[in-house]
Amino acid sequence: MLPVFDGHNDVLLRLWSKKAGDPVSDFINGDGQGHLDLPRMIKGGFAGGFFAIFAPSPQDEEFNDDEEMNPPPANQVGQIAALSATVGMASLLFRIEEHSEGRFKVCRNAGEIRAATAAGKVAAIFHIEGAEAIDKDLKSLDVLHKAGLRSIGLVWSRDNAFGSGVPFRFPGSPDTGAGLTEAGKALVRRCNELKIMLDVSHLNEKGFWDVARHSTAPIVATHSNAHALCASTRNLTDDQIRIIGHSKGMIGLNFANGFLRADGRWGSESGLDTMLRHLDHLMKIAGEDHVGLGSDFDGARIPAQIGDVTGLPRLVEAMSAHGYGEALAKKLCSDNWMRVLEETWGE
Ligand code: ZN
Repeated sequence: MLPVFDGHNDVLLRLWSKKAGDPVSDFINGDGQGHLDLPRMIKGGFAGGFFAIFAPSPQDEEFNDDEEMNPPPANQVGQIAALSATVGMASLLFRIEEHSEGRFKVCRNAGEIRAATAAGKVAAIFHIEGAEAIDKDLKSLDVLHKAGLRSIGLVWSRDNAFGSGVPFRFPGSPDTGAGLTEAGKALVRRCNELKIMLDVSHLNEKGFWDVARHSTAPIVATHSNAHALCASTRNLTDDQIRIIGHSKGMIGLNFANGFLRADGRWGSESGLDTMLRHLDHLMKIAGEDHVGLGSDFDGARIPAQIGDVTGLPRLVEAMSAHGYGEALAKKLCSDNWMRVLEETWGE
């Protein structure tokens, strides 16, 4: 079984939002809900990945209408509320590590990830999706970084003090508004100094080009697909894919049906063949060293052929049946992520 290193999951939000039970033991012992828990990760060959912390918008309507491809724009969230949610979910991450009896490790550099993987532990990267928890003076950034934060998505699909995220639109261009604010550019500079990875998934196109201009690190989209195959605002145009390759960056394939299907439908099924078409397209333009996986497990409706994390080996088998050799499959499943992390973190 080929181990998978994954660009994006939302299990911490799922656990934090649970109404009953103990989220830490539910994860460690396996609650069988959603896409991820520790026993299923081990069974599916999930070696590690980015664990996103996401502060929900106030009064967000539950995303109940499965076929709604153009939902109303999400409300913004305040800094204190976002910081509080971030501390809550980060605490879950650390308590999982504490109670996992050595099966789960929060990693702060590439060497720790390699060591964790070699020891059969799930390796987790502390990531925030949307920088709302960061104040404009970037003080909380210092503290979160010391606590182990190693990756930041500048925005989720809403505006914040640093930039603008794309609203979910289909069909639609990612060019949905203004670029980074001055605070956003300062955040990019500070993340470069601290060697915190910057994630452009959810960022609008002008913001993307601002990151490309101002950041000294490889450009990374942890969970986005090809706009040429699925014209969602959340996907990357060929020009964006090309510059990510030139920057020695990374694109993680998002498993969400709504970002895979040519008709953009969320609630309808998508096959493994569609995922392979996106991988082909991303590799054709960015190069095979700059593409990997970014499942969006526990954050999206995904193909039934995968089902949950235990279905990862079926995707790996499909890669092989599609003609990807073992070396290429290994790059897509983990090696490319390790390379970009080493390059970004400098160790
Ligand atoms: Zn996301």
